[in-house]
Amino acid sequence: MKLAIIGKIFDGEKIIDRGTVLVEDNSISRIEEGIEKREENVIEGDFIMPGLIDAHLHFFGVEEDNLLAWNVVDEIDVAIRSTRDMERLLRSGFTTVRDLGSKVAVRLDKLQRNGEIIGPTVIASGYSLAITGGNDDPKDLPIDIAQRLSYSFYCDSPYECRKAVRMAIRQGARVIKVYSSGAFSQGGKIMPGFALDELKAIVEESHRFGLKVASHAYGKEAIMNSILAGVDTIEHGLGLDEETAELIKEKGICYIPTLATYEIPFEVSPEVKPYREELVRKHFSDDMKIAVNYGLKIATGTDYVGSKKRSHGQNYREAVLLSKYMSNLEVLKASTANSAECIDVKAGYLKEGYKADIVVIKGDPSKNIEDLSPNHIMYVIKDGKIFRGYGNYQT
Ligand SMILES: [Zn+2]
Repeated sequence: MKLAIIGKIFDGEKIIDRGTVLVEDNSISRIEEGIEKREENVIEGDFIMPGLIDAHLHFFGVEEDNLLAWNVVDEIDVAIRSTRDMERLLRSGFTTVRDLGSKVAVRLDKLQRNGEIIGPTVIASGYSLAITGGNDDPKDLPIDIAQRLSYSFYCDSPYECRKAVRMAIRQGARVIKVYSSGAFSQGGKIMPGFALDELKAIVEESHRFGLKVASHAYGKEAIMNSILAGVDTIEHGLGLDEETAELIKEKGICYIPTLATYEIPFEVSPEVKPYREELVRKHFSDDMKIAVNYGLKIATGTDYVGSKKRSHGQNYREAVLLSKYMSNLEVLKASTANSAECIDVKAGYLKEGYKADIVVIKGDPSKNIEDLSPNHIMYVIKDGKIFRGYGNYQT
């Protein structure tokens, strides 16, 4: 395939007011300023940019947003709905996503790479790693049934956790996801997750196999333990403060605040509700201010699971929410180049030699960030093919 895409360009770093992206087969051969007459197939759009990245989502294939549903949902339904979600993500402009815990994502990754299904590149963790009785353990069920249904390997002690890392690698993991904290326990406290010695073992074992570690962390203790253990990305990161921000910056860890998930109500017990709301309120004010002030590398992740409320396809919401704290150009960088670097894939730029993962947009998200919404996505170029975006369907 030889293709010339013309329009205003964002190349992952800067804006080119009018230029041409030349694509040959599946890669970008050149970027030219200005527009010349061409022999190749030409696509013209208002705004051309690298494919969007969601660095934190889950292919849960569920309808409802609750812990029991996530675990007991029929696995065939999960596979069918997730295949649908892959297409939705692609036609909404997402060319790379990272799944941090699900039953199907390593399979989606494999089938997508084989060209058997359409969708973004998937960087999958396989099962996540969690403590027994931890965050996503449906504790009303007997432990053997809970473990059987879970999308996490429960491990306790450094030895078991090294084995759990190897189990995830055996599944086909390309990243390791770990719960450094739980969410909330009765009484409103944040539940502890892994202890520091367990986290250190997980990180060491993952890095030995060349995999990055993504750490779910609520609260200062979990964030600090994640930093000390040497994780690569802090997920959610509620309860960031100056001390942890400074260390995150110093160690070059990425911060993925997953704001999109917190703008949607989540059912919790009345006892927990006020504590959760306060922590979330602070996340949107203090945490984000500190993250931006310290110049943390922020990546876009939604924590959407593919339910009715957190549905794949609406993942541009993270960019919209981030735009309250940074310029649109910085949000575009976070959504592409930064996210690619944080999840360790060669993507997120329109540059010679990069894969041609490209979105053609109607409108100009450098001026109006809402123009990243699905109804503005005209074309998505991925794996040497041109797909119609949701902005390009007759209704
Ligand atoms: Zn998550």
